[in-house]
Amino acid sequence: MTDAEAIALALEEAKSAAGRGEVPVGAVLLGADGATLARDGNRILELKDPTAHAEILVMRTAARALNNERLIDSTLYVSLEPCAMCAGAMAMARVGRLVFAACDPKGGAVLHGPRFFEQPTCHHRPVVEQTEPHAAEAGEILKSFFRARRSWSEPARREAGETK
Ligand code: ZN
Repeated sequence: MTDAEAIALALEEAKSAAGRGEVPVGAVLLGADGATLARDGNRILELKDPTAHAEILVMRTAARALNNERLIDSTLYVSLEPCAMCAGAMAMARVGRLVFAACDPKGGAVLHGPRFFEQPTCHHRPVVEQTEPHAAEAGEILKSFFRARRSWSEPARREAGETK
């Protein structure tokens, strides 16, 4: 599978997440041999689990499937720049490469905010690539999700953590 094909799958997972009412983020994890180990989208509401980000879910599934807590030389594709929690988990899992589509200046922790992989306390740094051709599409999936949600009541939006 090419990078473009894998990130397209991650975008499909993001759209599926939106269909479940989740913030639309999708991820795909390929093993060292290029085989698809896992694909999933956010399931925070569904699982009532604040850690059920797409990236965490694919790493968990893959680690179980491989019976190995280290995902050495794997590549994680995700529609949005990972947050600090997911970046930390990627370092612990020894993910070899991270490819993401849209930047997240508000919640991202790779190119923004804490820039986790650049910190001296980070002991494993995946190769990081942002895939510009898919950034606009990934951003549009998020924007249309939040646009649709603006019709919700104000308390529901506050509860969902949307500040704007
Ligand atoms: Zn995350």
